[in-house]
Amino acid sequence: MTFRDLNLKKPLWNALDDLGYETPTTIQAASFNVMMSGKDTIGIAQTGTGKTLAYILPCLCMWKFSKEPHPQILIIVPTRELVAQVVREVEKLTPYMNVAVGGVYGGTNMNTQAAMVLQGLDVLVGTPGRILDLAANGSLQLKHAKKVVIDEVDETLSLGFRAQLLRIFEFLPVKRQNMVFSATLSEEVSDFLEANFTVPVRVEAARSGTALAQIDQIGYRVPNFLSKVQLLHYLLDNTADSSKVLVFVQSRVLADMLFEEMESSLLNSVGVIHSNKAQNFRFNSVQNFQTGVFRVLIATDLIARGIDVTDVTHVINFDIPEIPENYIHRIGRTGRADKNGVAITFVSEKDADALSKIESLMQQELPFTEVPSEVEMTEELLEFEKPVAQIPGKLLKLAKREVGPAFHEKKAKNKKVNVRYDHKKAMMDKYGKPKRKRN
Ligand code: AMP
Repeated sequence: MTFRDLNLKKPLWNALDDLGYETPTTIQAASFNVMMSGKDTIGIAQTGTGKTLAYILPCLCMWKFSKEPHPQILIIVPTRELVAQVVREVEKLTPYMNVAVGGVYGGTNMNTQAAMVLQGLDVLVGTPGRILDLAANGSLQLKHAKKVVIDEVDETLSLGFRAQLLRIFEFLPVKRQNMVFSATLSEEVSDFLEANFTVPVRVEAARSGTALAQIDQIGYRVPNFLSKVQLLHYLLDNTADSSKVLVFVQSRVLADMLFEEMESSLLNSVGVIHSNKAQNFRFNSVQNFQTGVFRVLIATDLIARGIDVTDVTHVINFDIPEIPENYIHRIGRTGRADKNGVAITFVSEKDADALSKIESLMQQELPFTEVPSEVEMTEELLEFEKPVAQIPGKLLKLAKREVGPAFHEKKAKNKKVNVRYDHKKAMMDKYGKPKRKRN
């Protein structure tokens, strides 16, 4: 099947020709006719499956020119990176159409965005909070929206945007077509759909929770941070065709730590991106990774979701994700649009639980490979990896901070030192042998 087999409009075919896109991906082929029939749709598709085009194409195909300056197509996404990406995808498809598209997101000046909205838009892409603010202050009118897409609804809900979504619905006309996309059909997503939509048609790129078939998955058992760094160096030096490597870590602090470790050997070909970095820095890092200036990009989960990078050769999970669905999202960044990719995961002993959750979500085991003998493993743990000393059930109290001498001498009665009652010792003193307390 080619895009010519879909009942598209000429300007869209021309744009697709320019882009060199010939064949629709699975989700695009599966959802097109359903969406064109006007029915509410729920698409189960991960990033990298071509899901963005899967909803943009029918939306643009059904779009009709109108003198109304208010958006007919509203696309709600969880992060500002994704806003930028979706706006770009719409722009790529509309060089031959008279469609105005704009993106709005929080953390930037609202007046500038309000002015852009007031100038008139056909397609508005935005994060829930900012869309709501603009609708509430009257800059944005949503009553003309005919198509409403909620992309990555699972992430949107897990970021706590449920209330904002429901309030946005109040601004929307009752008669509209909803298209909801999610990487997985979690309980939270199912509940949300059930409560807000009447029997949507379900289309899937891959079965909910299945890893994409064209991704080769490999696991390595690695005990700690420093050993992981060694293995990462080794893999980068010894893996053929590892020209675009996306490395995932668990936290912003770890992202910065790993960046420092890798910077000396990779020099200017490694970048880092997480939500503590300024917007410009984030866009530049992604740009450098996309254009090949950076061979390696170190990222945290949330940020990596929205970034638009193609042809990622390898995804490396330096840390295993705690939320199993994130594993699917992460590895979905390689093997994009039906291309082959490799996903490598470093697993330490403490990750056993997280690994088994991922494996049961995928309904398959992660195949493990021996760490090559050249890689120097160490037992040394960094401060954050050291186990916290614990009394069963209680955390050890940290030593009190030193403070200067008190203003006044304590009164004699307050000078008494508190001695903890030790039942075992009391029994020993009394009976000369340990005695159990009776219940
Ligand atoms: P997505 O899953 O929406 O993040 O898309 C992944 C990437 O694949 C994007 O850069 C798209 O532009 C690209 N893409 C989407 N559909 C196709 C297609 N049918 N053929 C080739 N590339 C595509």
